Amino acid sequence: MIKENLKAVEANICAACERAGRRREEVTLIAVSKTKPVEDIMEAYSAGIRDFGENKVQELCDKYEQLPKDIRWHMIGHLQKNKVKYLIGKTVLIHGVDSFELAQEINKRSEQKNVVSDILIEVNIANEDSKFGIRSESAFSLIEQIMELSYVNIKGLMCIAPYVVVPDENRDYFKKMLKLDVDINKLLSNNSPMDVMSMGMTCDYETAIEEGATMVRVGTGIFGERDYGIKT
Ligand SMILES: *Cc1c(COP(=O)(O)O)cnc(C)c1O
Repeated sequence: MIKENLKAVEANICAACERAGRRREEVTLIAVSKTKPVEDIMEAYSAGIRDFGENKVQELCDKYEQLPKDIRWHMIGHLQKNKVKYLIGKTVLIHGVDSFELAQEINKRSEQKNVVSDILIEVNIANEDSKFGIRSESAFSLIEQIMELSYVNIKGLMCIAPYVVVPDENRDYFKKMLKLDVDINKLLSNNSPMDVMSMGMTCDYETAIEEGATMVRVGTGIFGERDYGIKT
């Protein structure tokens, strides 16, 4: 089932790229494997997927130990400061950074391990009370602050758009994200570009790609519904 799902998602990604006049290589598919067993991950792995997303540190670390070392792990969930020390060195990208204190902790733990950690700034693009992320109007000053840290490298922005049944309803949020990224890059003109845009999930990844996503995070569309009752 996972292989068939992946084929369908891949076809959808290709079609969205074509509609937007973008190349398929501009978009990375992250298979969101949270709550799913290692067998499911291996099925996606043997179909060629190498980028996987998890939202809990403990679960990511457990899977990291058990699975092939060429997997590129993405921490996509809200990260607590006291868990950072377990994570550093295991992920290619930490998607949900939304405070200077969290960035400082990532910086400190990265320095201890002598690595530079790539991160994304999470933006609460729809200003939802229920969501983490920084408001778009505060993003630039946070980025300026974090840029002073030597062991953290900001690669771009991430958002979790509202859950929708009609993907088009999130289009304006994705447009806002892209505009914010363009504006920030203008202000930072002499630094390395923040060109990663992590946005789009099962309900809206095609729309996100049409509006400039460079990473889409797809869980249900690949692995099926999640059962949070089962501890993995
Ligand atoms: C769970 C999760 C996803 C994947 O959600 P689906 O709707 O299953 O595709 C994407 N991003 C984040 C941050 C998540 O927590």
